[in-house]
Amino acid sequence: MNVDEFGYLIDNCGLKTMDGGKHVFFQPIKSRSEKTVQKIVKENHLENLSIEEMNPIFQKYYPLYQSKKELMAHQFSSMSPQQTADLPIEKKLEYMESLFFASQTVENLVNVCKKNEENIRACLFHMDFPQSFWEAEKKLADRYVALIATQPEITDKMKDWGNTTLEEKKEVVAKAAEVFEHVYGIKVDFDFFSPEEERAKNRAKGLPEDTHINGGQQSGHKISFNEERLQEGDNFFAVSVLFHEATHIRQEFETFEDPLVERIFNCRVDNAVYYEKARDDKKDIRYQDLYAMQPVEKHAHGLQEYVENELIEKTGIRKMFGKEVDDEIKKIHNKTFSMAKLAQYHSLQK
Ligand SMILES: [Zn+2]
Repeated sequence: MNVDEFGYLIDNCGLKTMDGGKHVFFQPIKSRSEKTVQKIVKENHLENLSIEEMNPIFQKYYPLYQSKKELMAHQFSSMSPQQTADLPIEKKLEYMESLFFASQTVENLVNVCKKNEENIRACLFHMDFPQSFWEAEKKLADRYVALIATQPEITDKMKDWGNTTLEEKKEVVAKAAEVFEHVYGIKVDFDFFSPEEERAKNRAKGLPEDTHINGGQQSGHKISFNEERLQEGDNFFAVSVLFHEATHIRQEFETFEDPLVERIFNCRVDNAVYYEKARDDKKDIRYQDLYAMQPVEKHAHGLQEYVENELIEKTGIRKMFGKEVDDEIKKIHNKTFSMAKLAQYHSLQK
């Protein structure tokens, strides 16, 4: 074993005990890292180790791992934002993987974020997907569009969204979820919530009364739709938000061919976003910028916009705007879609 392999296990796993504490094993935290964890465990015979056997491994590698982390952290904070931006993608990932890891304490996270605010931003803003990835993803999205476009149960309702009931709109979501499952071979569950329910939850959490409520959110394989936004939103809302949120499911559970893409999605840069969110609130402009810069959002927003445009092209259905969303939501949307466009432009230049 080398220090990088040890570091991968520490950064991506929880150490669990079994047989009443006699044996220990590495439990991957995200399903994405399972394969690599298994490989390292197998190659280094780390299955079913007793605590006595694990101890010397930690004594040998933990100090090395620690000093490598410190060195990386030091190097990262000594760079200028421009130098950070110019780093090759592999280096950017190496730094981000070293800065944000599974067993990170809140204290460590706060220190890292405070110390590197501008460099983290420069790094995320310029963390671009390979152009080949965008191309392959658009080809797949074309299949989603083509199948949506040939289903009158969906398109007829989109054409007459104003006279479609909430129940019928929910059926459009269900149909779109079926199409997504078919194209991507991934499970998509969904349910609906009312803003009232969400506000009650926020109140219970002690959050301010005007906390932003999403149009849709994803957790595991499930997407929760804001039924008020579904009812009042534009006629693309159901198929478009379903696509966006289900793309987040793929990012979490699908294995992508390109190892770089795998690393981008396995990277815990969302820790930096949590930090910024906790520090202020969602209305803070620095939070919104950072949110929009996350690779997962660039990917989801970039494809979502592509899907909407292609659908307009293929079906001739015009986008009819629903009830105006408030200025805050509009601002966030503008930012995220612009960031996704810039990201695609950057990939094209490489
Ligand atoms: Zn998103």
